[in-house]
Amino acid sequence: MRPIELTNRQEHILAIVKENGPITGEQIAERLSLTRATLRPDLAILTMAGFLDARPRVGYFYTGKTGSQLLTDKVRNIQVQDYQSRPVVVQDSSSVYDAICTMFLEDVGTLFVVDKHSTLVGVLSRKDLLRASLGKQSLETIPVSIIMTRMPNITICKKDDFIIEVAKKLIDKQIDGIPVVREVERGSGFEVVGRVTKTNITSLLVDLSNDEII
Ligand code: ADP
Repeated sequence: MRPIELTNRQEHILAIVKENGPITGEQIAERLSLTRATLRPDLAILTMAGFLDARPRVGYFYTGKTGSQLLTDKVRNIQVQDYQSRPVVVQDSSSVYDAICTMFLEDVGTLFVVDKHSTLVGVLSRKDLLRASLGKQSLETIPVSIIMTRMPNITICKKDDFIIEVAKKLIDKQIDGIPVVREVERGSGFEVVGRVTKTNITSLLVDLSNDEII
């Protein structure tokens, strides 16, 4: 598997560098009977993609990384902030009825519950709301605070966490979404600044297959 499709010329350059590196751009151009200027874009692509490394006054050398190793490196470096969505929150005083309406209106599967200081206090999933709807009590009279999953049992992440770690949490905990939080003040709770769901992870996969990640 390769993160990018290489042209014949790029494959040829790779072979030359693999065999003769470190080698200057000038020398590669000579071997291919091309000018240095013609090769410049190819060398830039091969360097940016991680196949080659360039050292000033030494030249190009082969990094020895295969396409799939480079893809792995790329995936491991993606952070939450590169793929997060905006969060949808409800107040802890809201009713289950209101939360269901918000879920439909905002078209999300997970709601985050905050208190009057905008501090994260809970999570509501579709099934939490369905479960509450099975009872006989009127949904307008049940506050979300009694059915939500509450702190400190909420799985959270930060914007500079690696997205692959968050993907692992989604699988391990068998949940659909994780709030991206920021600590307001040490020990005084978290503010919700985003969300990562299985959909974000799916779009990351699509971008990777289209080679849209630098
Ligand atoms: P659903 O219940 O609709 O399938 P989930 O799998 O996301 O959706 O939720 C399963 C349970 O886990 C629910 O009770 C929900 O409140 C809880 N939950 C969802 N997200 C989190 C989270 N980030 N941290 C802790 N618990 C969560």
